[in-house]
Amino acid sequence: MITAHLTDTEIQLYVAEPETISDQLKTHVQNCVDCQTNIANYQLLFNGIHNQAKPQFDFNLTNLVLEQLPEPKRAFPWAAVLISVFSVMLIASLALFFSSYIEATITSVSTVLTATAITAAVVILIFQGVEMVKNHQKQVHTLLNTKTLQL
Ligand SMILES: [Zn+2]
Repeated sequence: MITAHLTDTEIQLYVAEPETISDQLKTHVQNCVDCQTNIANYQLLFNGIHNQAKPQFDFNLTNLVLEQLPEPKRAFPWAAVLISVFSVMLIASLALFFSSYIEATITSVSTVLTATAITAAVVILIFQGVEMVKNHQKQVHTLLNTKTLQL
């Protein structure tokens, strides 16, 4: 049997991780009132720390931060509108200018060629649509993960 009392570190270990304490120390504790008292004190202390209410802000942090953030500017996309209008006008004028040639080409091209072209266009559209949906889901997923991390 050890005659020396347990050190503070040993007592803390005894309370927090009793499986790490040697049998000799356990035997000493069973026979020593001083060490048992110290252990009881540490157990009270540890329980007090564990049961302490978690600190909380008495104000809404989210609202405070959101008030500080600048308002997002929603400017009208003039450049995109101008380019779109210009493109549509260009295509329309070209179609008008070459309308007789286009009509002649469409009537002379075989049905098989037209069907092939339409099929290719549809396949490309489907692939682009699938890609767009996948991209959107990935962005939503990333956004939700970021949101969860902030909370
Ligand atoms: Zn002791």
